[in-house]
Amino acid sequence: LLKLQHIRKQFDEKVVLEDISLEIGTGEIVSLLGPSGSGKTTLLGIILGLTDMDQGEILFNGNDISRVPMNKRGFNIVFQDYALFPNLNAYDNIVYGLRNKKGIGKEEVQETIDFLELGPHLKKRISELSGGQKQRVALARTLVTKPKILLLDEPLSALDGVIKESIKQRIQSIAREFKLTTIIVTHDPEEALTLSDKILIINQGRIAQYGTPQDIIQQPADAFVEQFIIRQL
Ligand code: ATP
Repeated sequence: LLKLQHIRKQFDEKVVLEDISLEIGTGEIVSLLGPSGSGKTTLLGIILGLTDMDQGEILFNGNDISRVPMNKRGFNIVFQDYALFPNLNAYDNIVYGLRNKKGIGKEEVQETIDFLELGPHLKKRISELSGGQKQRVALARTLVTKPKILLLDEPLSALDGVIKESIKQRIQSIAREFKLTTIIVTHDPEEALTLSDKILIINQGRIAQYGTPQDIIQQPADAFVEQFIIRQL
């Protein structure tokens, strides 16, 4: 269980997040949804440990990890632009994060490669991969580190059509198969509604609504939620 309590963040004079509290159950897929500038990426960074918060606590399975540094939290992220190394092939990108780690064997790496059907692409340079293949390499590179929470920053925004649908299904099967809590930043209501178990809608740094897709569609908490969801569907 991941518990955020009263998180607040300010950049200079600007309050970017105010009183963010929520609980995310183990194995749940939760989308952080909101318009541009609403604070989604900042909240993702705070959960990862990349960004400091000014107030609030983060509890993970009952332990206060608020001051635990990023590399000790055991969470991992796939960045929006994938941040793959162009001079390494797909395989070397996938195992890059394991170079200083003990205890993760070839078998587990192979399992991840098979799961994401990357076998035929391992020797390819990153520039030779399609968008969907790059996303799968980026997912594999993160999954082989066995994260306790998987964070995804706009994982579908660079993809279209069939590829988008297939990556969506892969994200869902990863969360189900590995019982891996997955937190996704998106600005697209349709994506959030079809991908997640729960959605946190953020408006100007505050929680507008937190609930299942069904809750949100059937009972939007306020005019902003109604507008934001309906306008874009
Ligand atoms: P987008 O969808 O456009 O990425 P977002 O919802 O992810 O938006 P954030 O990136 O979290 O929003 O930004 C929230 C607010 O915080 C914005 O007004 C942004 O300008 C501001 N902000 C973000 N990072 C910094 C920073 N390092 N220094 C100053 N202001 C920042």
